[in-house]
Amino acid sequence: MYRRSLLKLAGFGAAAALLPARLSAAAAHRWANWSGNQHASPNAIHYPTDTTQLADLLRGSTGTVRCFGGSHSFSALVPTNETLISLEAFNGLRQHHSDKNTATFGAGTRLGGASAQAWAVGQSFVNEPDINLQSLAGAIATSTHGTGRDLPSLSGLVESLTLMTAQGDLLSLNQSDGDMFRAAICSLGALGAVTEITFKNQPRYFLKEKTRVMPLKDAFQLVDRDKDKHRNIEMFAFPQGGTAIVKTMDIIDDDALIFPEDNSNDLLEMACETTMHANWLVAPIQKLLQYLIKEEIKQGPAHRVYANVRTVRFNEMEYTVDADQGLAVLENLCEEINRRDIDVMFPLEFRYCAADNSLIGMFSERPGASISLHQYYKEDAQPYFSAAEPLLQKAGGRPHWGKIHTMNAEQLSGIYPGFEKFQAIRQQLDPQKRFMNTHLQKILGVGSFS
Ligand SMILES: Cc1cc2nc3c(=O)[nH]c(=O)nc-3n(C[C@H](O)[C@H](O)[C@H](O)COP(=O)(O)OP(=O)(O)OC[C@H]3O[C@@H](n4cnc5c(N)ncnc54)[C@H](O)[C@@H]3O)c2cc1C
Repeated sequence: MYRRSLLKLAGFGAAAALLPARLSAAAAHRWANWSGNQHASPNAIHYPTDTTQLADLLRGSTGTVRCFGGSHSFSALVPTNETLISLEAFNGLRQHHSDKNTATFGAGTRLGGASAQAWAVGQSFVNEPDINLQSLAGAIATSTHGTGRDLPSLSGLVESLTLMTAQGDLLSLNQSDGDMFRAAICSLGALGAVTEITFKNQPRYFLKEKTRVMPLKDAFQLVDRDKDKHRNIEMFAFPQGGTAIVKTMDIIDDDALIFPEDNSNDLLEMACETTMHANWLVAPIQKLLQYLIKEEIKQGPAHRVYANVRTVRFNEMEYTVDADQGLAVLENLCEEINRRDIDVMFPLEFRYCAADNSLIGMFSERPGASISLHQYYKEDAQPYFSAAEPLLQKAGGRPHWGKIHTMNAEQLSGIYPGFEKFQAIRQQLDPQKRFMNTHLQKILGVGSFS
């Protein structure tokens, strides 16, 4: 049990308690995100139950409107003190086609619910992120991704979607709509309210996940050597301890369930609380991992294997670099962290993702390697993130839209081939800038509601 606990601790294993965004919001028009670093006190929070109500709401209101889903973004995409809208009532599987392996969901459906409903009709999502509490619309709004060299982000798996503009008009978009569709599959909620999404899935499958700990140098070699051998591969690097965890996943025929007990959250929280007051313990705790942890297997239906439970809150920065340069950039970052003596209990997370044809997704026209930095929510993440960010930017990194970064429109326009096209489509669909909050004004380089 001890071994397993530490393993999970090292993988910073677990679970995001689903913040009761609706409850906290309804109490006094207050909204906060999962980690607690973003807040808003909007004039109104609406929960429309159908497209007629949504259209009335958009046509009958003035000022800034922002949609929110699971409130799991760390960046300030959602906050506004004017109007917030949740499409949580747009929930559930609406139709599916077994011959094409497509499934259509209400856009407010949480990924966990959607993937379980897909399973029930014989389908699995092609890939999933680390947790499944995001809404589908929120997840595609930021190109939320899992890991796997050949596997696209959720934005890259959209077959079609329906979007309601600020004028209350419904647009149904698919590949044949060209740039408008490419903009809508990763839109930051800047084009309108997404009401329905159809995903390209695959016949349901079982996964076997294998997790092992090893010296950091060995992990670099293993990931480099085996990155194309496994369907999904992921590394958690602990630079201060010189250790790493490598997780791989592959499809299996075996339908036996193996889900080891997981008590990682309590232990991770204890380690974070301890090292917050005694940061010299970070390196020894991380070093110990390789002696205490043995290989662990988890297997079962794909959606159950993908999903982790993360209750220990953190703040996160993530940059995606060219896939082929990923390991070298991670290595530089590990060296920089050690050179600067930055003691952080959470590991650096390293994942691959295939290219897609979104205009401004992190994987737009380029396969990527994503490097994520996490800091315990009670600690100031800024010194750590600002030490790492220049290095990641210099390597051509694109920031995860849902995570913390400091880039502005001028910088971002240089790293997304489709940035200007996206701006033109945004202007066309929302000329009055109803969907612009302060953060979007900064990253998209447009003014506020006019
Ligand atoms: C514990 C944790 C684990 C995470 N793991 C991963 C991971 O493995 N991989 C990864 O890539 N990311 C990960 N993330 C980041 C997360 O997936 C993204 O930030 C995602 O966008 C959050 O989705 P959400 O439903 O919570 O949306 P929110 O954070 O509520 O909103 C995100 C964006 O979506 C827009 N939006 C929401 N609903 C609609 C709608 N109906 N129409 C139009 N726009 C809408 C919002 O306006 C906003 O711009 C993680 C975050 C946390 C807290």
